[in-house]
Amino acid sequence: MSQPLIDPFHRPISYLRVSVTDRCDFRCVYCMSENMSFLPKKELLTLEELDRMCSTFVKLGVEKLRITGGEPLVRRDIMTFFQRMSRHLDSGALKELTLTTNGSQLAKYAQALFDAGVRRVNVSLDTLDETKFADITRWGRLKQVKEGIDAAQKAGLRVKINAVALKGFNEDELLTITEWCAERDMDLTWIEVMPMGDIGNEDRLDQYWKLDDLRDRLRETYTVTDLPDSTGGPARYVRLEETGQRIGFITPLTHNFCESCNRVRLTCTGELFMCLGQEDNADLRGALRNHPDTEEPLEEAIRSAILLKPKGHDFDYSRQIVDGKMSRHMSHTGG
Ligand code: SAM
Ligand code: SF4
Repeated sequence: MSQPLIDPFHRPISYLRVSVTDRCDFRCVYCMSENMSFLPKKELLTLEELDRMCSTFVKLGVEKLRITGGEPLVRRDIMTFFQRMSRHLDSGALKELTLTTNGSQLAKYAQALFDAGVRRVNVSLDTLDETKFADITRWGRLKQVKEGIDAAQKAGLRVKINAVALKGFNEDELLTITEWCAERDMDLTWIEVMPMGDIGNEDRLDQYWKLDDLRDRLRETYTVTDLPDSTGGPARYVRLEETGQRIGFITPLTHNFCESCNRVRLTCTGELFMCLGQEDNADLRGALRNHPDTEEPLEEAIRSAILLKPKGHDFDYSRQIVDGKMSRHMSHTGG
């Protein structure tokens, strides 16, 4: 049995997030600029290479894989990859295979995802108003995403909605979104907008809606009970007693939960980022491509990379300027 992956701050690494493409069929204003340039296809790891990469992480103790992007479901033949990963679920080595998606392709793929062993999916949705949805995603259509969510639930997938909290944009929808999720038995997580990548003319501070404020507003309508942390992730959860719903808060700006971080992120080109909010990374593609017949160099490269995991990120808006900004986009590292 291989030694588990432990970082320099004694945190076990059991969770890998994999961005399988930097491309997307939406252009959300907080994530991308309208005219994004994407990586040439030859830079991307092939699906076979992604399989080798992920399988090696699973061998080294990763128990949870989250597939993300860009939009993971626009990558050609991506279902083949999910199907191949299901062997690690069958063997018991992998406890969870899941994805984060904008939902646009879910109607097409929900059943195949379920059949590959996916049981939960996070769908990103920031508004229930069609016009606002078209504005925030630039290219998206709300109806298509709602149909995707319906298909996912019908296929037996548990859906969690992720909404980015955006000042002056979805503040007025706090209760409507909460109720809509409650009616459909979906949990909901709010995310503070993070300073990732150049997004054109949009201003991060103008977009930033502090989640402490959002939580106070929920308390005006609901009985809110804090729940103990169980995920080892950056989200903190409450339960709304009236609906029984779990509401999560990802607050990298107002609270930093890096001490319990258990995750690393693989990009679609094979770079491993040890923290969403730092530049430390390692190129694993070389170790993979230069040694097609043995996984040992890749295992060594992964172990060395984990030793570079920093203590935490430096995102900070508290001085009314954007501190800790990352030059790369969320779609590159995988949100
Ligand atoms: N396309 C998929 C989706 O939208 O769910 C997966 C990739 S997307 C980069 C993953 C998550 O990152 C989404 O929930 C999105 O809202 C979030 N995100 C993107 N840019 C962000 C930013 N600057 N700050 C906070 N969250 C962001
Ligand atoms: Fe695409 Fe997701 Fe980024 Fe929106 S948040 S542009 S859907 S990658």
